[in-house]
Amino acid sequence: MLVVMDQKATPEEIDAVVAAIESKGFTARPIPGGQRVAIGVLHNQGHIETGLFLGLPGVKELIPVTRPYKLVSREFQPDDTVIRVDEVAIGNGHLTIIAGPCAVESEQQALTIARHVQQAGAQLFRGGAFKPRTSPYSFQGLGEEGLKILARVRDDTGMPVVTEAMDHEVFDLIETYADIIQIGTRNMQNFSLLRRAGRTDKPILLKRGLSATIEEWLMAAEYIMDAGNSKVILCERGVRTFAHHSRNTLDLSAIPVVQKESHLPIIVDPSHAAGRRDQVIPLSRAAVAVGAHGLMVEVHHQPERALSDGAQSLYPDQFRELCRQIEPIFKTFRPNGVTSGAQGSQALNPS
Ligand code: PEP
Ligand code: MN
Repeated sequence: MLVVMDQKATPEEIDAVVAAIESKGFTARPIPGGQRVAIGVLHNQGHIETGLFLGLPGVKELIPVTRPYKLVSREFQPDDTVIRVDEVAIGNGHLTIIAGPCAVESEQQALTIARHVQQAGAQLFRGGAFKPRTSPYSFQGLGEEGLKILARVRDDTGMPVVTEAMDHEVFDLIETYADIIQIGTRNMQNFSLLRRAGRTDKPILLKRGLSATIEEWLMAAEYIMDAGNSKVILCERGVRTFAHHSRNTLDLSAIPVVQKESHLPIIVDPSHAAGRRDQVIPLSRAAVAVGAHGLMVEVHHQPERALSDGAQSLYPDQFRELCRQIEPIFKTFRPNGVTSGAQGSQALNPS
């Protein structure tokens, strides 16, 4: 339930409502929003007696929250969340491009790719140091050495870095290096990892599970927010279907549904959806047209030599072409929107 306060409610009246909520054993969460002061009631089991709060001074109305996810929902927070990492914004009004190799393989590899993608228009660099691989015999990532390389890429290019925390044990380490921490598709319902992600102040990139419904995905985001971290970026990366013309099936219909249900930013990863590079540019165009707030794309300067996901990694020239093609699509729908900073184009990052 949401307790909406009168515009003129005093801080004392707001404190009194918070105290009344907590005295019943519930959690009170003030909800940010430009237009109104509201306090969310969480951790109630079942129905709440509305009479408990309705008569309190300064209370304007009580709104029942119908969705199972609360903090994530637009019912709780009507205004879009825009997450900022250094100079980069992710959320409504922005088109944010994350690019880089599937895995960090060496300093030379990471730096070469980082310079290419930055020149083409990427604002954030991605690269896995700990890789979730289907086979235990496949390359598992460089571990901490990979994180150190990511830190050097950041120092060298100024681009913030995104990397995956595969489990609880490495989370502390990842937190010291990453600017955004990814939770991968296979971990979307790893609830202890989600709770740990809720205790960092770094933004979390939460990928949709291989076969997760939108409700399950938003509930996973709710775990992170409930544990205290409101900086969650959702990432649609394709779901498992009967199709075998692509690695997964990119569910672009998830974008408008999530944007209706939630205030959180949502981006699209066309690389893991497609599994093959010839589909990545068309899917990227479609993702931007449908209203995604950004893209995460795998790029490699020598994909045939990549230690993971080479088949879906774009060559640098193709990534440049991708950035060139998506910008006018974004501008058509968002004339005042901000894109990255593609070479030869206007800074895509307004205020
Ligand atoms: C990745 O981003 O490299 C990755 C492993 O993604 P996913 O969890 O979507 O498979
Ligand atoms: Mn990959």
